Amino acid sequence: MMDKRVLIIGGGPAGIEAAYSLALQGVKLVLIEEKADVCGHIQNWDKLFPDFQDAEQIRQTLYRKLDHPNIEVITNTEIKNLYPKGKSWFAKKDADKIFEADAALLATGFEVFDAKRKEELGYGIYDNVITSVDFEKMYKSGKILTSEGKVPERIAFLNCVGSRDEKVGNHYCSRVCCINAVKQAIEFKELVPDSKAYCFYMDMRMAGQFYEELYRKSQEEYGVTYIRGRISEAAVTMDNRIQIKAEDTLSALPMKMTLDLLVLMVGIESSAGTTLLSEQNDVLGLYGFAKPLGLYSEDNMTSKPGLFLAGTCKRPLTLPETLADARSAAIDIVKYLKTTT
Ligand SMILES: Cc1cc2nc3c(=O)[nH]c(=O)nc-3n(C[C@H](O)[C@H](O)[C@H](O)COP(=O)(O)OP(=O)(O)OC[C@H]3O[C@@H](n4cnc5c(N)ncnc54)[C@H](O)[C@@H]3O)c2cc1C
Ligand code: SF4
Repeated sequence: MMDKRVLIIGGGPAGIEAAYSLALQGVKLVLIEEKADVCGHIQNWDKLFPDFQDAEQIRQTLYRKLDHPNIEVITNTEIKNLYPKGKSWFAKKDADKIFEADAALLATGFEVFDAKRKEELGYGIYDNVITSVDFEKMYKSGKILTSEGKVPERIAFLNCVGSRDEKVGNHYCSRVCCINAVKQAIEFKELVPDSKAYCFYMDMRMAGQFYEELYRKSQEEYGVTYIRGRISEAAVTMDNRIQIKAEDTLSALPMKMTLDLLVLMVGIESSAGTTLLSEQNDVLGLYGFAKPLGLYSEDNMTSKPGLFLAGTCKRPLTLPETLADARSAAIDIVKYLKTTT
């Protein structure tokens, strides 16, 4: 393995975990990240669902994994071109920056849905309509406040923003936002116990381990109210509060509610890097995500020999799923390197 080299594109959790697993097996690699720092989206999260683990601790663990003689990390380098030539793979930033290796791993991750595309919900128009990403930032700073600097007395979380939505062209479920809404509602109630917290949902998807328990806890211990229904419209009141129109689909009654803060649970979309590099290599799947060779034992492989996939560049995944997927990709890459001369 000592003479083999791998290119990893994307320095998020998937790229780092795969790098570490490969390095331990004696493979030399270069990990290329477009941003100034590695760790991807988890740099923006404060506490993680479902166990409220401090995301900073996970980041520190991932940083330490990169401290290995077989790993070279290059940041501030966006790969715009990825292609095979002979038995090698090449990644290019521009004419001057070209990287060559025996195999390549796409770990280019996801982007969050741009809530401005749902104009009727008022994001970017009304200050007191925020996203779950904004909520994380506020929570990290220790305060959840309205734009007027007041502690909100009434807050609502709206699920499925940009997911399961015909109008924006995303039919799939993003898988992380139901449980994230439960987590954020609990966090809010811990900060402001006397407040009212609502969550509007189509159906609560609690498929992960401990998710159902947290969902129950949010109702029984924290008094979070779940309303089955979608918010059709948000408007602003004279005193800069948010008035929403929704339908409670369990009682089949239309309803209006005035809120201090509306939090849009934005979904996962493919990143620009994922779509571009997948398209260049004929491995573009649905909704701009990269397409694995098969769903079962070939989920980290592609139709291109030597090109592998890990993490959310394939589909929405939670962090534990992403890390497990990256380790699985490393196993496939080592197998591939052993069979090529
Ligand atoms: C709102 C929200 C909250 C979440 N909270 C949790 C949680 O609490 N618990 C949990 O388990 N999961 C959570 N997740 C999921 C978690 O964030 C993902 O599972 C994880 O970030 C996926 O890692 P990744 O490496 O696949 O992708 P990313 O984190 O997106 O990393 C991909 C990296 O690739 C880089 N990149 C992209 N294109 C290029 C290119 N062309 N050249 C070079 N570099 C490139 C990017 O800059 C980025 O650093 C949450 C997701 C969302 C949307
Ligand atoms: S996880 Fe929940 S909020 Fe997110 S898309 Fe799926 S159903 Fe909607």
